[in-house]
Amino acid sequence: MPSATPRTRPRAGFAGLDQPERLPRTRSIPRPTLLEQPVETLPGVGPGVRRKLARLGIATVGDVLAHRPRRYESAAEERTISELFGDDEAVLDVTVRRASARRRGRLHILTAHVADATGDIRATWFNQPWLEARLVHGTRLRLRGKPSRYGFQVSSYDIGEAAETADFAPVYPSTADLAQKTLRSITEAALAFARDGGEPLPAAVRTAESWPLRADAVVRLHRPRSDDEAERARRRLALDELLTLQLALRRRATEREVLVAEPLPPPAELVVRYRDALPFVLTDAQDTAIAEIDADLARSTPMQRLLQGDVGSGKTAVALYTLLRAVEGGRQGALMAPTETLAEQHFLTIEALCTELGVRVALLTSSLTARERRAAHQLVASGDVGIAVGTHALIQREVEFSDLAVAVVDEQHRFGVEQRAALAEGRSPHVLHMTATPIPRTLALTVYGDLAVSEIAAPPANRKPIKTAWVTEERSPEAYARLRTHLDDGRQAYVVCPLVEGSETTLARAAEDEAARLRAHELSGYRVGCVHGRLKTAERRATMAAFKDGELDVLVATTVIEVGVDVPNATIMIVQEADRFGLAQLHQLRGRVGRGAEQSYCLLVSRHRDELSETAVERLEAMVSTTDGFELAERDLEIRGEGQLVGARQSGLTDLRFTSLRADRDLLERARELAVTLDGETLLDAAVERLLGEAEHVGES
Ligand code: ADP
Ligand code: MG
Repeated sequence: MPSATPRTRPRAGFAGLDQPERLPRTRSIPRPTLLEQPVETLPGVGPGVRRKLARLGIATVGDVLAHRPRRYESAAEERTISELFGDDEAVLDVTVRRASARRRGRLHILTAHVADATGDIRATWFNQPWLEARLVHGTRLRLRGKPSRYGFQVSSYDIGEAAETADFAPVYPSTADLAQKTLRSITEAALAFARDGGEPLPAAVRTAESWPLRADAVVRLHRPRSDDEAERARRRLALDELLTLQLALRRRATEREVLVAEPLPPPAELVVRYRDALPFVLTDAQDTAIAEIDADLARSTPMQRLLQGDVGSGKTAVALYTLLRAVEGGRQGALMAPTETLAEQHFLTIEALCTELGVRVALLTSSLTARERRAAHQLVASGDVGIAVGTHALIQREVEFSDLAVAVVDEQHRFGVEQRAALAEGRSPHVLHMTATPIPRTLALTVYGDLAVSEIAAPPANRKPIKTAWVTEERSPEAYARLRTHLDDGRQAYVVCPLVEGSETTLARAAEDEAARLRAHELSGYRVGCVHGRLKTAERRATMAAFKDGELDVLVATTVIEVGVDVPNATIMIVQEADRFGLAQLHQLRGRVGRGAEQSYCLLVSRHRDELSETAVERLEAMVSTTDGFELAERDLEIRGEGQLVGARQSGLTDLRFTSLRADRDLLERARELAVTLDGETLLDAAVERLLGEAEHVGES
């Protein structure tokens, strides 16, 4: 292993201001600030690589160290050429005799004749033309690969020391334009700072339970010598991560202890009328959740409850019940959604019912004109509006309530900031958090330590599981034929457009074009509407309402329909270029169908098989194999790689980088115990602050 310590580039500009008032420190003293250095301070990282790293969520040296390999290469035996056998993977130590290249169509084939003491063999590389110049006569090579018809097919190579070809070489989540080789060498350089994270676990705990040092765990995560060592490293880092989380939860809980809420009077006439007005009877699971909520609302400590249930399980009906409880107590409710579209959808869903019940609802979004907005704010401030619906950001930042009693927070990051806004008023609302990120109850209790949990475990009984199929694009005509049979039966459908790169405007244009194309071809003769993030509010609402009322057969959409859209007559969905979407996103999208009693279908159309990454195939297969949100969440954590990272941010849970919820229950418990004794420990304190700080930032964006 190379042991040279990579140097950081000197920082330009500030040298003259940076008084050396402290003695230079030796490397054995951790300096956590070094982990906050931008990635460019590492050798080999210029603006281009920096941008690519940013897409993986990596901005600092610390982020590089926390970028967890998604797997490791398996161990392969070092063999001589004469010992090569069958198609076993092996590592060769050879010298180049000569190399030559040729083309076959678009394929560039590089062949090198290589030899060791026992014989020679041809080694082949595909599409790596730049390599030819380096394979000069006499060059020592380490090759990892398999014997094949064409000689030795090289999967990785090293010129010099073993790195790429080493056993257990890390394979990182990456993007198509960022090579593993690059990520590995950046990580290698960052490892010089592994000790700067310090050691948060007290020595007594560490030795008693034989945990590796944190710094060693970081090194072994990236350079394990066995699978076992990698796993031990992962568990150590998972413990730290869970410990930080538990400490943050404790801090939140302590902050809340001092808060006071006004108890609500018991359920009365309005919610009875609400139950009558609903077109269905609430399920037992919904009723249980409601009973738990009612008990909370009767107390003078503000409710902090998490309502969890998979997509389509019927959380909205429970949420509206809770809001109405505020209204019938003569007070107000707020429903906060993460996006404008979702806020609008919630508004459409509840407005009709509320009007029937004589409750006034206001929608507050940033697309209101200044005058409309002032008027709406006025109505909320005067108490004329019973329920306000809007985005988290807007409601927290701008809206003054006359008497807010209940806030429902939909799909918010684990740490919302609603509390802070409430604190300023001296009296806190009761808060119901809703999430579709499924985790089993026992785990939820630990992960969401400071929240009470209600779970809607079973969907309404009339549901049939959605049938999902995956085809590649050449079979997309069959998918549309299938979709048309549904339309001809009087059902409705969604077509989700490819996730193109670019601005919201680019996406919107692509969706419009696709809708026009479909109207002319696959869906000619059907009524096709289109929604995307660039529509004016009024247009978007009109289109959504038309679809809901059955005036449109098909809704062509971007992912704006990911959450909240609720049209039970829609029974089939086509997702175009489904390989581009993250697993969580696909699951949410699929949740738009299967919301009524009819059998529903989700057809995933991907690009050609040979354009798909390994992880894309894993995602599509996972979608076909199960509709269970919990299983998919687990798979998501395992697969998380290309293109997943953005979607993953939404749900607090997938922020756990090192923890495997199924395997690490013992760690969760241990972290919870340790959090009690380690509260106030400074190294962790900084991490806790950062976590809470990030959460605030997320909540406000
Ligand atoms: P979630 O928000 O959990 O994804 P929703 O609250 O949007 O789910 O409900 C999904 C669909 O199920 C909606 O069409 C809703 O009207 C319907 N639904 C909710 N509760 C019931 C019930 N008890 N019986 C039948 N249908 C229900
Ligand atoms: Mg919902």
